[in-house]
Amino acid sequence: MAPPQRILFPLDKICMDWQQRQRAGAGLYNLGNTCFLNSVLQCLTYTPPLANYLLSREHSQSCHQQGFCMMCTMEAHVNKVMYSSGTAVQPWAVVREHFELGMQEDAHDFLRCTVDAMQRACLSRSSDLDISSQSTTIVHQIFAGCLRSRVTCSSCNVVSNSYEAFLDVPLDIKAASSVTAALEEFVTPEQLDGENGFKCSQCDKKVAASKRFTVHRAPRVLTLCLKRFEDFAGRKISKVVEYPEYLDLHPYMSQTSGEPLLYSLYAVLVHSGDSCQEGHYYCYTKASNGLWHKMNDTSVNCCDIDTVLRQQAYLLFYAR
Ligand SMILES: [Zn+2]
Ligand SMILES: [Zn+2]
Repeated sequence: MAPPQRILFPLDKICMDWQQRQRAGAGLYNLGNTCFLNSVLQCLTYTPPLANYLLSREHSQSCHQQGFCMMCTMEAHVNKVMYSSGTAVQPWAVVREHFELGMQEDAHDFLRCTVDAMQRACLSRSSDLDISSQSTTIVHQIFAGCLRSRVTCSSCNVVSNSYEAFLDVPLDIKAASSVTAALEEFVTPEQLDGENGFKCSQCDKKVAASKRFTVHRAPRVLTLCLKRFEDFAGRKISKVVEYPEYLDLHPYMSQTSGEPLLYSLYAVLVHSGDSCQEGHYYCYTKASNGLWHKMNDTSVNCCDIDTVLRQQAYLLFYAR
């Protein structure tokens, strides 16, 4: 990829460690089937590099956005949650915007919409930026990584690479009993054959080939989405999929030589229920004082890591 012409937020300004240690913040009122939204907001609130930035109020001090700005909204929300004197707050500003845009009520969709809206807010003053520069906002510096897709022709062995930014990694869990097994499957080469063959420019015809995905550039914050709602009938894959507290991403990278690339779990979003149309969302997050809490709408309760690691996870959040 071409180097960015402008750096909107320098990487070395991103602070991965909490800038202040304090107990967990407030819970969130359910404003009518908004548990999907509450649990995503709580996971974002305890994302250390994002929270550090929002708590500093640096964004709003220089924001000139006319009308709605997702970064200003998130900044106000995170400050309210962390410094609230009560036990719960009402996330009205986010809820209002969400329903105006008519978004889906799936936690993963809501996470994507929210991160995209924050990204747009960061780009609002720079409309004609090249793609590389657009990925230097604080939002993409935190959440975005890059995937490489490599196709190797089985006749002449010519290799063609393509690169794509990602904000989360979707994991197929039909055959996998753990996240590491699902990641292993994610980087396993797929055979392209017959109808699905690859048009090799060197051979100048359709040939058999193998295609392999690897993480080419690792994100600061890794979001994994366990694909529990694949079924068109809306059924859910409810099985247990194990996930570790510390994850080494190195085996799944394009370059596998060198040091381990360790990530530490800081939030788990859970869906309970039998299908995507029903059920309840809640989450587990790690506060800046290192203690884990179950966040279930207004209730915020301390729990241990063993409980956190035994959930039917839908989204997993890891930080480097
Ligand atoms: Zn703003
Ligand atoms: Zn070829």
